[in-house]
Amino acid sequence: MTEKHYAVAVDGPSGAGKSTLAKAVARELRITYVDTGAIYRVIGLAAFRKGVAPRDEAAVSAMLPSIEIGMKHGDDGLQRMYLNGEDVTDDIRLPQISMYASDVSALPPVRAFLLDMQRRLAREQSVVMDGRDIGTVVLPDAEVKIFLTADAEVRAKRRFLELEQRGTPKPYDEVLAELKERDYNDSHRDVAPLKQAEDAVLVDTSDLDFEQSRTLLLRTIREKIGK
Ligand code: C5P
Repeated sequence: MTEKHYAVAVDGPSGAGKSTLAKAVARELRITYVDTGAIYRVIGLAAFRKGVAPRDEAAVSAMLPSIEIGMKHGDDGLQRMYLNGEDVTDDIRLPQISMYASDVSALPPVRAFLLDMQRRLAREQSVVMDGRDIGTVVLPDAEVKIFLTADAEVRAKRRFLELEQRGTPKPYDEVLAELKERDYNDSHRDVAPLKQAEDAVLVDTSDLDFEQSRTLLLRTIREKIGK
């Protein structure tokens, strides 16, 4: 007998630890982790490479039909991303692509373009899906919804350390300013703004380390799905 699929939606602002935590939780539950931010980043990268202004709705829309987004999950749980067949997993993480992704993601045609893809992934298998509008728009019927957040300063400090470790350091003040700008963009756009779904559980990780956050998330999910 096949088990019924279930979905865990994890939304929240940048730097709240969504991807690291969602990935760890998916591994523990033995289900697929889907990082939807990576999909927006592929479109951001395409605009960047083509010299298309990321807020220019007409120009970005015109570019969409020529974009084929691929996604593959390795045995290690790593989500590799492809743009017209080219592996762009590393390129989409370049710091300048973050703002491009945030800008293109505010455009209604971009969100519509990606909606089906995200829903299909959740239909085909059980998922932990992270993003900004998963619990509110993409999977409103998700069995579990978590809104993961932390103070802006805490998030900026985590992002600062992450960039340093990756070998692409940036001054802390810049990281904080950019994070606040992205928070503002993401929560003030007209379509699918970042906001907590009414039935989402709020998890604030400001004072929690990774292990404490992971335990709390798993407990919350298991209580809801009864596993
Ligand atoms: O999560 P990540 O920082 O990689 O996402 C990049 C950008 O993509 C975010 O700033 C946000 O604007 C956008 N995004 C979105 N909806 C999602 C996931 C990401 O608008 N579900």
